[in-house]
Amino acid sequence: MIVSVDLSQIRFLRYFLYLPVFTAVLSLLFSTSSVNAQSDLPDGPFYQVQEGDTLWDIALRFRVPIDELQQANGITDAAQIDVGNQLVIPGLEGIQGLLETRTMTYGETLRSLSRRYRLPEEKLARLNHLTSPNSINPGSMLVIPAQYDNPTSGRRVGVRAGKSLLELAMLNDVNPWELVLANNLPGTWSALPGDVLVGLDDETDGPGAFLEAIEDVSIEDLPFVQGKTMVIRIRGMPGIELSGSLNGSEITFFSMGDEYVALLGIHAMQEPGLYPLNISGKYPPGEPYFGDGFDFSQSVLIRDGDYPFDPVLTVAPETIDPKVTEPEDELWESLGVNVSPKKLWDGVFQSPVPDVFKDCWTSLYGSRRSYNGGPYDYYHTGLDLCGGVGTEIFAPAPGRVVFAEPLTVRGMATVIDHGWGVYTAYDHQSEIYVEHGNFVEPGQLIGLGGATGRVTGPHLHWEVWVGGIQVDPLDWLMKSFP
Ligand SMILES: [Zn+2]
Repeated sequence: MIVSVDLSQIRFLRYFLYLPVFTAVLSLLFSTSSVNAQSDLPDGPFYQVQEGDTLWDIALRFRVPIDELQQANGITDAAQIDVGNQLVIPGLEGIQGLLETRTMTYGETLRSLSRRYRLPEEKLARLNHLTSPNSINPGSMLVIPAQYDNPTSGRRVGVRAGKSLLELAMLNDVNPWELVLANNLPGTWSALPGDVLVGLDDETDGPGAFLEAIEDVSIEDLPFVQGKTMVIRIRGMPGIELSGSLNGSEITFFSMGDEYVALLGIHAMQEPGLYPLNISGKYPPGEPYFGDGFDFSQSVLIRDGDYPFDPVLTVAPETIDPKVTEPEDELWESLGVNVSPKKLWDGVFQSPVPDVFKDCWTSLYGSRRSYNGGPYDYYHTGLDLCGGVGTEIFAPAPGRVVFAEPLTVRGMATVIDHGWGVYTAYDHQSEIYVEHGNFVEPGQLIGLGGATGRVTGPHLHWEVWVGGIQVDPLDWLMKSFP
């Protein structure tokens, strides 16, 4: 028997010998292509560098140490990043894709943000390294994966005592199960009174932790900084009685048009850190749907004003003797306590000195001071404007004179009440032309510059008080409050 062997078959079999080589090449090809895919999108959560970003900003925003950020991205020189670079953000296991940042606003909680972005609270907390609800501060950055960055603008539905979720859904004309799903609730029985749910239409939007009676809460020019004047605006149902406090100091709200407005002075020596900002409200009677009112607190970060330290000042010892300064300081503080309900000014304040001196300052507000070698326990409570003895002093805005008398430290001093807890004060004058109780108009001559009291030379020491706190007067010459 002859066994015929088909040569073509042998040749075919020989190809099997090449198979491992072939698969190796194939797998190499595939792995190369997957490497290519990875270089398009980094492995792990990443941020795309924007115009104006520095590596330090990015590290701060994502709350990662800068050296870890450099290491994760093989960056040796922290100054070397380019717009469009995709930087892997370390320390966020289980999170993938492009990350974006949004500025946090007042009136949000972890829960309300979770509902707004439809992102589980746990994931949002981990992404933002939130260790407590206090870490959600207005003005700081909120990190969110780009795929979730389409915040819902659903109408807010407040859960009321004595109303079931089913009733609420019916009252608001929404499907209760959709309400349950949209708000990550375990069931229709699980909503708690006071909780604020996200509705499903896109009628209105607003601070997620407030009931619908409050349409909007905004704080202008965040962050809070030592010496600054802050403006809080609230829009909501007419007739709400609003009150508030920052770290226990009372905030007064005034009705203005369709808004409630509060001015807030930040003390120049306030230790930088987190402080509770509370806003509470009482609804007008006969609003049973909303209940009695609300009480909301959120931490705000007060930053350092980076004020300079003045060289030690030498003054007459009796002007820093506590026996003299304490009663005078007490009197001075008492002058700014009363909050007149009528706002007398409108727009930016005029300069209190003639044009030739208006941009000439011998000392700015806020600088830290030591007198006669003592500790730096003092700060400069106003703005020192140039001018000699006899330089004219004008009222910067309409107001009522509440003090016009000589004092030991402040010399010949005048204080004007402009309403809403805003006062201006004028020290070291040589002449005073107004009396307690006088109304003054902007530009009215109220006195002459001098060198009376604790001074090293003639100048006008000018103060602006907001809610009993001396703030930076330059802000009032540049910006219209509120
Ligand atoms: Zn001064």
